[in-house]
Amino acid sequence: MNYERLLHRIVAEIAPSIGAGRVADYIPALAEVDPGLFGMAVATAEGGLYGVGDWQTPMSIQSVSKVFSLALVLEREGERIWRRVGREPSGDPFNSLLQLEHDRGIPRNPFVNAGALVVTDRLLTLTGDARGAVLGFLQAETASKSVDFAPAVAASEAEHGHRNAALAHLIADYGNLENTVEAVLEHYQWQCSIMMTCAELAQAGLFLVRHGVASDGSRLLSRSDAKRLNAALLTCGTYDSAGEVAYRVGLPAKSGVGGAILAVVPNRCALAVWGPGLDDSGNSVAGIAALDAFTTSTGWSVF
Ligand code: GLN
Repeated sequence: MNYERLLHRIVAEIAPSIGAGRVADYIPALAEVDPGLFGMAVATAEGGLYGVGDWQTPMSIQSVSKVFSLALVLEREGERIWRRVGREPSGDPFNSLLQLEHDRGIPRNPFVNAGALVVTDRLLTLTGDARGAVLGFLQAETASKSVDFAPAVAASEAEHGHRNAALAHLIADYGNLENTVEAVLEHYQWQCSIMMTCAELAQAGLFLVRHGVASDGSRLLSRSDAKRLNAALLTCGTYDSAGEVAYRVGLPAKSGVGGAILAVVPNRCALAVWGPGLDDSGNSVAGIAALDAFTTSTGWSVF
């Protein structure tokens, strides 16, 4: 497979989508990002790394961090977390409060904000430092010291985080938080603020390509937990567009409002795409188009 050539072909094909969509504007740090940026990286199971466009520019991973916090909880205690968070697609916006009350404080899945707050809460209990655990994992998997928090983004998230605070309080009211609302919000906001390049994000996703094996060859997740994490990503990883993404892309994927998407081709490679313009569900318009073009061209999908 000539990845370089394929990636350049994809960029040409999706050019009309680059710059399309709306940049997240709930915090200044995201609103100021140039909507015309676009990057895509492929990290292969054999150790290859390929990219195109702005694939080496750090970006805010935002909700993609939810994959890693969940993996770290599953690593430590396997299935237990599923008593506190569901595994069904939400069909509602990622920051919706409505469903949470209806479901009596048990978030629909770990990839909507409510679910990620519960996962971060558990990781905080298990490690004493949830945000540090996520950052440490990402630095180890990418062998990079430049992967780091963006304190200004975290502070901005806190300032504009009324909805997440409301979700956390509602979860606490139903008895589904172990730590204080303040501590959980802080660790969640910092984990969302992590900056990575597409190259690094693709490398960080390789443990899901290798069925749970980390970059140093150790087993992070059981084969079964890795398979199930991929299943949850396919059904819930792209908010209320997960059906559309399964149809167009056919891969487990997680998106973030910074415009990043991490996608997994089991056994073969991890893909990271980034385009700050979002569709109505909060997924990168150019990113989805690029993943669609990639899987359509290669025929690689989980189906
Ligand atoms: N930091 C964002 C929030 O909590 C992350 C949401 C997202 O990327 N969808 O609102």
